[in-house]
Amino acid sequence: MKVSNLYKDEKPVYSLEVFPPRNGESLEAVYNTIDDLITFSPAFISVTGGALGSMRGGTIAIAAGIKRKYGIEGIPHFTCVNKSIQDIENMLMEMKFDGIENVFALRGDPPIGQDKFMPHPEGHKYAFELVRQIKNLNEGKYCTLSTEKNSETLPTNFGIAVAGYPDGHPECPDKKMDLQHLKTKVNNGADYIVTQLFFDTDVFLEFVENAIKIGIDIPIIPGVMPMDKYGQIKFISKQMGIEIPKKLKNKLEDFKDDKDAVKKMLEEHTLDMCNKLIAQGTPGIQFFTMDKPMGTRKILEELCK
Ligand code: FAD
Repeated sequence: MKVSNLYKDEKPVYSLEVFPPRNGESLEAVYNTIDDLITFSPAFISVTGGALGSMRGGTIAIAAGIKRKYGIEGIPHFTCVNKSIQDIENMLMEMKFDGIENVFALRGDPPIGQDKFMPHPEGHKYAFELVRQIKNLNEGKYCTLSTEKNSETLPTNFGIAVAGYPDGHPECPDKKMDLQHLKTKVNNGADYIVTQLFFDTDVFLEFVENAIKIGIDIPIIPGVMPMDKYGQIKFISKQMGIEIPKKLKNKLEDFKDDKDAVKKMLEEHTLDMCNKLIAQGTPGIQFFTMDKPMGTRKILEELCK
């Protein structure tokens, strides 16, 4: 099932993002998170791969395992990091035969220790090239063969998600240009977008408005990360170049030593953002759980009342 079809419904679609465990640790945190949130009927579950450059293998197997265990689509985040075009095709075949039907196509963060993304010598430099490769496979064009459709090939049928950046991507100084790069991913075959998290709903809404203006006509799903700690929001803001709105920033500074006050403030802020997004007709919300279900649970309890 292509998950982009789910966004045709009038009701907002809630989905989750989970993290593979580090270095072969148990899957308990992933499954505990899903078990805790399953009552809200998440439409699908995305599984990150090497986000922020960390080494966390297992993404494809976990996504396929989620589908088998829960009957919910599992979506692997699939990056171009350290992969040749042939490696990518081989891994897409692993996905196909493991029942994966949707892929989150990303360039990827540079591995820890590298400050810049270095494409594989026989790989892709940008995510749009990966999107194009998947789209080609969906048309039966395999990289080992000519680009013409070959009658002996069997097309895949992957749904393709890509990343969008309401605050702009940190490597692209010009937000307009970054949006054009998003459009290139759409033109090459993406069928829905999940955004980086943001702290200001107006920034997201303006991003959507600008995207529509330049002809982006696929669902744009806001990524929301429930947070409850001062250090956490400061780290994310700095690391990902995401602005904290002035009012919230000032309030956080005033109460930064009061953990309970910060927790309450951030929970209220996130719930307020979700309510505003729903009021504006968002097709869905993707919750970045970080394998800690409590924050997402609190919000979904309110949204699903
Ligand atoms: P691209 O779309 O290729 O963009 C990368 C940069 O290149 C941008 O600055 C863009 O403006 C620029 N660019 C694009 N096309 C061109 C062009 N033709 N010419 C010049 N410049 C161009 N990372 C992980 O490693 N693992 C994950 O699991 C993961 N999950 C994510 C989930 C979400 C919801 C989001 C929003 C991001 C996620 N990321 C993840 C982070 C992502 O990999 C990084 O932000 C990465 O730096 C960019 O990936 P991209 O797919 O957006 O790349």
